Amino acid sequence: MPDLSLVPPALGYVIAGVFGAIIGSFLNVVIHRVPLEESIVFPNSRCPSCGGVIPFYDNIPVLSYAMLGAKCRHCKEHISFRYPAVELLTAALFIGVAWHDGLSAALPFDLVFAAALLALVFIDAEHMILPNVITYPGIVFALIARVAIPYLTGTLHFDDLPSLSQGALAGMPVWVVSLIGAVTGALIGGGSLWLMGWTWEKLRGIEAMGLGDVKMMFMVGAYLGWRLTILTIFVGVLSCSVIWILLMARQREKNMQMLLPFGVFLGLGAVAALLFGVPLVEWYAGQFR
Ligand SMILES: [Zn+2]
Repeated sequence: MPDLSLVPPALGYVIAGVFGAIIGSFLNVVIHRVPLEESIVFPNSRCPSCGGVIPFYDNIPVLSYAMLGAKCRHCKEHISFRYPAVELLTAALFIGVAWHDGLSAALPFDLVFAAALLALVFIDAEHMILPNVITYPGIVFALIARVAIPYLTGTLHFDDLPSLSQGALAGMPVWVVSLIGAVTGALIGGGSLWLMGWTWEKLRGIEAMGLGDVKMMFMVGAYLGWRLTILTIFVGVLSCSVIWILLMARQREKNMQMLLPFGVFLGLGAVAALLFGVPLVEWYAGQFR
């Protein structure tokens, strides 16, 4: 095995960015095909307008979009800016996760988690759904990560694990403690979303939140633990409220119903909690000590 710790940090970030752009290209396929219930493996990439097969040299992340001048080679139809945007965002996200984790065995897990969030955000933004084919495997993945990561990196990777390992759960196997943390986080995440939807429904008599948000927060809660889950919901509600107020202020008819894809804001909150959450919740907890 080559000693990866000898790779200079700058080169590490370049590798993370290039890898992120490639995964972003795959996420574009996921974002386009999952809502249509199409296979994400077959057939090859095609132009959504003319159906022409896109050869590999026209499918290079970001670069092909620029070189083709945002037009399909066959039909000259405009290619959505979403494609390079997803690739660039995934690149940035992967650089952020690499910065957060460093060369840790938890890095591949955090990258999968971040990629799943990005796919959910873009699908929710376009279709107002958070598909089960992403959230269900996401919940299973979170539980697997919860069992595996403490054995690979020690108990420090998960925010809730050090405090849970002491106290009432002391002496239990670390995977049991980690799973208890996952279930607690999932119940707090999914439960509060369910409660918010239920309350809104009772107050307004309309269904405000689908169960997609609840399932997404089961996944996020299981993976991040209860403290970062509360932060995720806080950032989600705050950013959603700000956008809602800005949109309402521009609207002429104030009584119009307006639904925002809440999963987009929850995804934003979860990424913020993953990358910057621990120092934030530590600072907040310090105010009461
Ligand atoms: Zn075309």
